[in-house]
Amino acid sequence: MALVNEHFLKLPNNYLFADIAKKVNAFKVSHPHADVISLGIGDVTQPLCPAVVEAMHKAVDDLSKSESFHGYGPEQGYAFLREAIVKNDYLPRGIHLDPSEVFVNDGAKSDTGNIQELVRWDNSIGVTDPIYPVYIDSNVMIGRAGVVQDGKWSNVTYMPCTAENHFVPQIPDRRVDIIYLCYPNNPTGTVITKEELRKWVNYALKNDTLIFYDAAYEAYIQDPSIPHSIYEIKGARKVAIEFRSYSKTAGFTGVRCGYTVVPKELTASTLSGERIPLNHLWNRRQCTKFNGTSYISQKAAEATYSAAGREQVKEVIDYYMTNAKIMYDTLTSLGVEVYGGQNAPYLWVKTPDGSGSWRFFEQMLYNAHVVCTPGVGFGPSGEGYIRLTAFGNRNNCEEAMERIHKWLK
Ligand SMILES: *Cc1c(COP(=O)(O)O)cnc(C)c1O
Repeated sequence: MALVNEHFLKLPNNYLFADIAKKVNAFKVSHPHADVISLGIGDVTQPLCPAVVEAMHKAVDDLSKSESFHGYGPEQGYAFLREAIVKNDYLPRGIHLDPSEVFVNDGAKSDTGNIQELVRWDNSIGVTDPIYPVYIDSNVMIGRAGVVQDGKWSNVTYMPCTAENHFVPQIPDRRVDIIYLCYPNNPTGTVITKEELRKWVNYALKNDTLIFYDAAYEAYIQDPSIPHSIYEIKGARKVAIEFRSYSKTAGFTGVRCGYTVVPKELTASTLSGERIPLNHLWNRRQCTKFNGTSYISQKAAEATYSAAGREQVKEVIDYYMTNAKIMYDTLTSLGVEVYGGQNAPYLWVKTPDGSGSWRFFEQMLYNAHVVCTPGVGFGPSGEGYIRLTAFGNRNNCEEAMERIHKWLK
């Protein structure tokens, strides 16, 4: 008899975006002429930039000729991309990585979900709350999260991030083996200062804790004092794995490319106290379970570092950040409490009348015909907030703000 992995059965059948779609469809049926604008799902809308498109066309041409054909590539990614990453994303910030510490992937979601395979099932985990659901759910599937009680997992330490603590998570008062951090943050759009990040690195060094650091939105940072990488903090190489992605940086959500940095100095212990370098383990894991990112996607990623590519990528980011500013200014002018949106493409909005996330979601849908994401869908501390994304096109963004203005003023 084949026995199922019953840990999967613990996952609540709570599909946030499916629930949203259901409610939006119900609205559309009863309001067939309403023009609904979505500021809900965290996906980009602007097309790939010309430098990327050109590189992809050229990559297809390479594959069309026997002299330049590429079959399976290295599981870790092509040297041309790993070297470009080291040189462009890290060296200018004074971070010296070796290309062998960079693992190219098909987007950050897979690796942020898979990385937990490197550590024993009985490690404890800590997460900021609200949170990108992948971190917890991937731990639930392996049995590390315990059981869910009142919306919280019994073996997970939650570090609330709310307006009350200015979205600065508190260092847990007990030791935790693994900490997930995501900055700039999805869903709150808030960032972490160097000083605060240093506290986490020091905690990890002192407690022999691993930090999984998701920097998928680093390209949106506008304030020069905010760290783009955890390796800007001294000692972080000993304790942190960093995830990055071209998805939000360069509109690659449909192209699929990202990377994970596993420094050579990073180790974890066996039960008998032997230190094992995780770079070796991750390499072994990738060679077994992953067969590389497509040559075309990696050529596309490389093109984001050319002079033209860089400029074009920045233009798109500026476009989204202008949306964010329009949204931020409209909402604050209405006296609404808004967080994020300054160094990230997300705005985290406190429901003005103190109502619950889902109730305000429905009010906004029925009164302004605008779709948001209920904050409680990202964790218990998200209750009473909604998330808006700046990834829409300008017209929709402006129209949505006009409607919200008319409704709330
Ligand atoms: C979008 C996103 C990613 C990147 O996902 P991809 O798989 O690279 O498309 C990673 N982390 C967070 C928090 C995200 O919101």
